[in-house]
Amino acid sequence: MTEDSTLPANNFIRNRIKSDLAQQNVSVITRFPPEPNGYLHIGHAKSICLNFGIAAEFKGHCNLRFDDTNPDKEDDEYVEAIKHDVSWLGYTWQQLEFASNYFEQLYAYAVQLIEGGHAYVCDLNPEQVRAYRGSLTEPGKNSPFRGRSVAENLDLFSRMRAGEFKEGERVLRAKIDMAAGNINMRDPALYRIKHAHHHRTADRWCIYPMYDYAHCISDALEGITHSLCTLEFEDHRPLYDWVLDTLKTPAHPQQIEFARLSLDYTITSKRKLLQLVEDQHVQAWDDPRMPTISGLRRRGYPATAIRDFCERIGITKKDAQIDVGVLENCAREALDHAAPRAMCVLNPIKVVIDNYPAGETEELDVANHPKRPELGRRSLPFGREIYIERDDFMEQAEKKFFRLAPGKEVRLRFAYCITCTEVIKDSNGAIVELHCSYDPLTKGGKTGDGRKVKGIIHWVSCQHSIAVQVNLYDRLFNTPNPGAQDNFTDHLNPHSLISLTDSRAEASLSNSEAMQAYQFERCGYFCRDAEDNAAGQPVFNRTVTLRDTWAKINSK
Ligand code: ATP
Ligand code: MG
Repeated sequence: MTEDSTLPANNFIRNRIKSDLAQQNVSVITRFPPEPNGYLHIGHAKSICLNFGIAAEFKGHCNLRFDDTNPDKEDDEYVEAIKHDVSWLGYTWQQLEFASNYFEQLYAYAVQLIEGGHAYVCDLNPEQVRAYRGSLTEPGKNSPFRGRSVAENLDLFSRMRAGEFKEGERVLRAKIDMAAGNINMRDPALYRIKHAHHHRTADRWCIYPMYDYAHCISDALEGITHSLCTLEFEDHRPLYDWVLDTLKTPAHPQQIEFARLSLDYTITSKRKLLQLVEDQHVQAWDDPRMPTISGLRRRGYPATAIRDFCERIGITKKDAQIDVGVLENCAREALDHAAPRAMCVLNPIKVVIDNYPAGETEELDVANHPKRPELGRRSLPFGREIYIERDDFMEQAEKKFFRLAPGKEVRLRFAYCITCTEVIKDSNGAIVELHCSYDPLTKGGKTGDGRKVKGIIHWVSCQHSIAVQVNLYDRLFNTPNPGAQDNFTDHLNPHSLISLTDSRAEASLSNSEAMQAYQFERCGYFCRDAEDNAAGQPVFNRTVTLRDTWAKINSK
């Protein structure tokens, strides 16, 4: 095969699958196995893109399987949210499965292990189990219950299922080797008692399989060929293989591990993300500051940007922290192409153009996108009274300030050049209004006499603009590694959300659809929120700034 830059970059998993396929012609079957105990985050996106991407690339398929073996924290709300997020990312699963679909089969396999002398019921309490396990340097000790007969084990296991025992009283353990160097092989638990209501199987079960036992069998039952998981499962691989070898399952998938995604300034732990929601540091799982797929979506991230990001960071065997600027750049690139331009003045100040005829309006014909004529044109009304950005005016301007200042000239984007003639202040000395004159010969970029006007600023017509709310979102944490801090909520960025309620946008934005993205000229990329604010005004969320402002801060 020849190298082609349009193909996905090579990584060790692709290479391994290629060599597997060279040896035998099978179709590649993968799965994405989330636990429905929270919303998916950007780290999951890496796993989704890998699993679905590999399956598509090798013309196989990928299943979505919910690993619902721990009923305490699982919920249908999460199941639905996860399905929605995977679809939104652009992927289609072949089979939709739940580990709980296999509870009966998993139980039968456990009986088979007992019958073969490979599993036993152990009565040690959790504390004793820990003490018997040994340590990294010391071998463990055999449980006194290890020698139970097959008949006794079968009896006790069926009574565990029947609900005769309390939680923690007994577990089913694999009989492997208490002296194994790998602690995961020291007679790991296969089943525990939990008198808990399950979101799908209700109260039918009071024993639940452990992840390490359920996962490999679920993979085998679905004929998964490559079970791709994160590095923390590397030490569990011998157990994965032991279960399948001992049971002689019809298929034996191979587990391949890769490095988890960790992003700076970001938390990718479901438990901590849940805490942010429960303690109301954010509004919900889909708060636009959350690194969840739903949060990124609401923030205005296109699915293409997230897929592009996952492709760019690649797949490795080594943990590394990725600069969140890489993700933000993917959004910038996708939106630069996708988003029509519009004008919105975030912090407006009124400008009266004294020599412009009162009551007159000009319709300026402007392109919606500078490079994509297919996105059409619109008419932008211009008149005597406009708003400009407060920051684009400076009363005592330094030499390098090329925007509006007393006596200085600036260009209004798409319109005329104006010169500031008067500054009106209130009794406290605050500037309330500016007066300007305009040069009628400067329409659309020219100056009659060849003089240079360096600055260009955005504006909207007072009469033809609408009041909007603009939410300026920034990184949720102000430390590069919040997950490593003792108390990560102490490191929340107090300026992660600034809501502006006096902004003014082109009137055409009043009927934009929810989630429609725009580049507000000079201000950044924004998207329309699904809901208006309490005052009935449209709300626009800032997806990302036009440039990476944090890179500048960090280099200082
Ligand atoms: P936990 O199991 O502690 O609830 P988890 O993050 O492992 O959290 P799962 O729902 O089990 O959540 O994850 C589903 C899949 O996504 C797993 O295969 C897991 O390896 C993968 N995954 C989770 N977090 C990341 C990450 N940060 N980077 C890459 N893959 C991830
Ligand atoms: Mg997990």
